[in-house]
Amino acid sequence: MQLRYHPYPLQLQHTFTVSGCSRSQTPDVLIAITHQGVTGYGEASMPPYLGESIESVCAFLARVDLFQFDDPLRTDDILSYVMHLDDGEPGAHNYAAKAAIDIALHDLAGRLLGQPIWRLFGLSPEHCTYTTYTIGIDTPDVVRQKVREVEGRFGRLKVKVGIEGDRRLIESIREVSDLPLTVDANQGWSSPEMALEQIEWLATQGVIMVEQPLPKHDLDGLQWLTERSPLPIILDESVQGPEDVIRLKGCCHGINIKLMKCGGLAPARLMIQLARMLGMQVMLGCMTETSCAVTAAAQLAPCADYLDLDGNLLISNDPFQGGMQVINGRVTLQTEPGLGIYEP
Ligand code: MG
Repeated sequence: MQLRYHPYPLQLQHTFTVSGCSRSQTPDVLIAITHQGVTGYGEASMPPYLGESIESVCAFLARVDLFQFDDPLRTDDILSYVMHLDDGEPGAHNYAAKAAIDIALHDLAGRLLGQPIWRLFGLSPEHCTYTTYTIGIDTPDVVRQKVREVEGRFGRLKVKVGIEGDRRLIESIREVSDLPLTVDANQGWSSPEMALEQIEWLATQGVIMVEQPLPKHDLDGLQWLTERSPLPIILDESVQGPEDVIRLKGCCHGINIKLMKCGGLAPARLMIQLARMLGMQVMLGCMTETSCAVTAAAQLAPCADYLDLDGNLLISNDPFQGGMQVINGRVTLQTEPGLGIYEP
């Protein structure tokens, strides 16, 4: 098996503002793993707050030796090797790099077996629900314009809140749309009491779920809020990998799983199983990514209560076609082998 990779910065269509930062580009590395003329694609997307960079991802990938493996279908052995490659190194944050390998190997396995990845997992694509389209923090005029642009194509909108003017933002959307909303505070609300007050108002505005209302380490506050909130509380920044799912029982109603945070489809599947065992809801999210990583996450969409898989729609230089599509607002899985994506 041969591994190739190259940096591919993603251009965002709109400058993206969430509570805490603003940006117009996301660093990204595309990879390809080839075995006997068949190629699987993978990707590492690095939003700045997760501590990875093009340099760190390329340095990690340079150490991955896939020539030692003859059979790409033995993904358990290969991914175990990759997952433990940086064991014991202080400050190692190579989850996006690991996710890239995991995605490419799953894509390759699907292509070699002639089956889409969701089918290798034994899932039913008709269980996929609506995905949200994210509206960033902006002026009321711009927000109304963005909502009008996507009305009809999406069944749910996600709104970034957590700064001054949250209510005005929601009211601006409600002037032009009655679609169900989810909100993401990105840790931006200052206290559990203030968050509860906001959530009680949001529940009267057709909001159906709240993501990361409080700072990620404020587990006491999150537990207090979860016991009282009229809307489900889903944690994102508090969650990285499988070990966090157990730690967060009682502090939320569910977790937001992202391949770039946890290291790919294999750990994501474990997180889903743990969450279900503990009675938690499951959300599948993404970073700003190409169709490659978004389609990879979508392979698990039949298992999720909430889907937030719009990352590829927020960029203007997606190098791939095919893969998962959003049709009438619903995630619609590809029937082609692997991820079903191709470079036109
Ligand atoms: Mg979030």
